[in-house]
Amino acid sequence: MGPTLAHEHLFVLSQEFQHNYPFLWDRERGVAEAAAQLERAYDAGLRTVVDMTVIGQGRDIELVRAVADRTRMNIVVATGVYTIDGIPPFARFRGPGCLVEAPDPLIDLLTADITDGIAGSGIRAGVVKFACERTPPDDSARRMASAVAEVHRRTGVAVVVHCDPFEGNGLELVALLTGEGVASDRVVVAHAGDSGDLDTLRALADTGCLLGFDRYGMTALAPDDQRNRMLAALVRAGHGHQILVSQDHASHIDYLTTEQRRELFPDWSYTHLVERVFPQLLREPGVDESTLTMLLEDNPRRLLTAGRVPAPLEVGA
Ligand SMILES: [Zn+2]
Repeated sequence: MGPTLAHEHLFVLSQEFQHNYPFLWDRERGVAEAAAQLERAYDAGLRTVVDMTVIGQGRDIELVRAVADRTRMNIVVATGVYTIDGIPPFARFRGPGCLVEAPDPLIDLLTADITDGIAGSGIRAGVVKFACERTPPDDSARRMASAVAEVHRRTGVAVVVHCDPFEGNGLELVALLTGEGVASDRVVVAHAGDSGDLDTLRALADTGCLLGFDRYGMTALAPDDQRNRMLAALVRAGHGHQILVSQDHASHIDYLTTEQRRELFPDWSYTHLVERVFPQLLREPGVDESTLTMLLEDNPRRLLTAGRVPAPLEVGA
């Protein structure tokens, strides 16, 4: 795997808008641009990118494959549901405690993404994710925690939960997952590092979970020097092995125009971390080169490999 960005995106697309207004985006140019950005990141020393794009964010495995075919970078894909607005209608009305009492249909679908591959591609997801920005977490978060815990039991992959770092629902999300039997060291609280509250971050780290300092460069949400101060304090407190660093960058995200995005997040890229943040981070007391190796290599490797059910041998591949 080598140096690994643990939480990025290739594309975040509003699929029905893209489908109905195809002039919004040029797919071929988008693939070329993503591959070019990943090649620049490879040249900067990075070797693996985890694409956290799941259902609800425009996941399109053939787009990912098209980019992967044009870059030396390893790409690991995720499965899961971006439940920021709750359970999508597809699954909202059927499941445990729903209008139609039934097994949760998401469990088999997400499991198959990991065991068989996504959409018939044979490309297997390496992690399962959901999202909750409600504080305290609501019923949809409870349902997703239960569903992904079952997926985790069946497959061994780690669970990533996109949290609300500002009000701070991370502790409750970890409690939901550990209550469902997921070991805390197999849980990533994504975006926790947007918080400037060290007490909250330390309490979260004390649960044993991993914390995503995974939005470097998204300075409109939190300044990078604040992220570095929080991160270094956690390292000095002995929590360095629980931290993942990344940028949550997308080569294309249609929530904003390219111009709007550049204005809001001028430093956002796949290489911002290694080119601009790490030199600053090294000035923090308690942080040295071995810390950076732990953050960028050891921690993501443990996240993606521990507990995995061995993949079947691909005969003739
Ligand atoms: Zn993300």
